[in-house]
Amino acid sequence: MILFQNGTVIDGSGEPAQQASVLVRDQQIDSVGHIAATPEMEVIDCSGFVIAPGFIDVHSHADLEVLEHRTEKVMQGVTTEVVGNCGFSVFPKVPLTGLAPVFDILFARRDSREWEDAGSYFEDVEGTKTRTNVAALTGHSSLRAGVTGMKAGSLAGDDLREVEKRLTACLEQGSIGMSTGLNEVPSSYGDFEELVGLCRIVHQHGGLYTSHLRDYKFRFVEAVQEALDLGRGSGVPVQLSHLQAVGRKNWDKMDPVLEMIDQAVAEGVDVGIDAYPYVAGSCNMTQLLPLWCMEGGKEELMSRLREPESRRQIAAETDGYMSNGWEDIMLANLANSDQQDLVGNRVQDVADERGCAGVEAALDLLIENECGIMIISFNQSDENLRKVLTHPLTSIITDGLMTEGKPHPRTFGTYPTFLGEYVRDKGWMSLEAAVRKVSALPAARFGLEGRGLLQPGNCADVIVFSADEIGTRGDYNEPNHAPDGIEHVLINGAWALRERRLDSQGLSGQPLRV
Ligand SMILES: [Zn+2]
Repeated sequence: MILFQNGTVIDGSGEPAQQASVLVRDQQIDSVGHIAATPEMEVIDCSGFVIAPGFIDVHSHADLEVLEHRTEKVMQGVTTEVVGNCGFSVFPKVPLTGLAPVFDILFARRDSREWEDAGSYFEDVEGTKTRTNVAALTGHSSLRAGVTGMKAGSLAGDDLREVEKRLTACLEQGSIGMSTGLNEVPSSYGDFEELVGLCRIVHQHGGLYTSHLRDYKFRFVEAVQEALDLGRGSGVPVQLSHLQAVGRKNWDKMDPVLEMIDQAVAEGVDVGIDAYPYVAGSCNMTQLLPLWCMEGGKEELMSRLREPESRRQIAAETDGYMSNGWEDIMLANLANSDQQDLVGNRVQDVADERGCAGVEAALDLLIENECGIMIISFNQSDENLRKVLTHPLTSIITDGLMTEGKPHPRTFGTYPTFLGEYVRDKGWMSLEAAVRKVSALPAARFGLEGRGLLQPGNCADVIVFSADEIGTRGDYNEPNHAPDGIEHVLINGAWALRERRLDSQGLSGQPLRV
């Protein structure tokens, strides 16, 4: 038994903090309150520290990282991760190479493993063991890629039936729902009819639908409308992933979007929001290109970039749809080993150096890196960030995609940044409200029973941190810093981090079949 004694208990519910102790017995929370220590208890003095439920990252992109026992999430207090986000899961039966560039960035450089379905992925999580608990969405791009590859057009006939069959199997095996990445091929080829049909299947299995929207820029309002209509049309709970208005020209769209969401909720649509606490996003650079040029897959894209006429068309459309400048786009990761000195540069710097326009530098870089480029894009406003983070429906996510180079600092410091910079220093909300957004709220939203609240009988995912110290020194240029102020992390009753030291044996995570 472990007794976290005399701390400030913030239980995840949003209720006021109380001075109390938390007793853990085996894998569960035994009791919360004034508990006298007995000789058989291991007593951890928590005076001056907060005792809270472990953080739940419902948008982690760590499908493979959890199997590699990576440590970035645990170091920042995460005890549960949801993978398979933005339309991309490693199952079912998806060839991990030669598809869209984003598959390459997410998966292909890892190894050649393949997972038949959600069940075999969960078995691997169980057998390999993981640090954190892992729940998994089934990706719409992955479903499509396994059946029709990168082919354009909405699904019909046998193809549609095969996708439905695979989705159903994954849901029955414990996948939590379906994610789309509607601004990426091949998920983008799904029209409303296709998506509403698949959402109905998800709803029948008690799952939820998470949407990387079709557009966060000029058609942001229409994209949110589509997601809400999918909820209306199918009854499925809808989660709007990393909600944000991208680019100065679109910042005024956030108010009408939040109004639409509130209106939909009032009508009975089941809506949730998530967001990361940064004004810069990160994605593969091909997301800036028009979708048509990616039809057929990576090789086709490469030849369109090389062919003068199609390249002119791509350049014009890409520039025309930019909502920020090329000076706002930082190169985070480049596949070409000869170009590692460019990591950290802005695209405009490269253009100036080469004496060409920003868009031409971007397209050349894509060719030189065979489309393997991750960018960090500075594109949101502080004011909108505040509106989204403080919205009562919003959970906090990392969206923390791990790459070489300079990955987005959210990969290492989302929760310390949120609780330190935005909650303590800027005072955007109370600590109790903030803890709810990283524990009980996402747990309830994603149906993770027995998680997210410090209450007797729940799983013992517990974190102890210093509210005064929590934070990170990591930034966009030096993202890889261990956060400050995280004292202890317990996952399913076993130590994952103790006295700020990682427990190298700490592989007590479990697959969460929902
Ligand atoms: Zn996304």
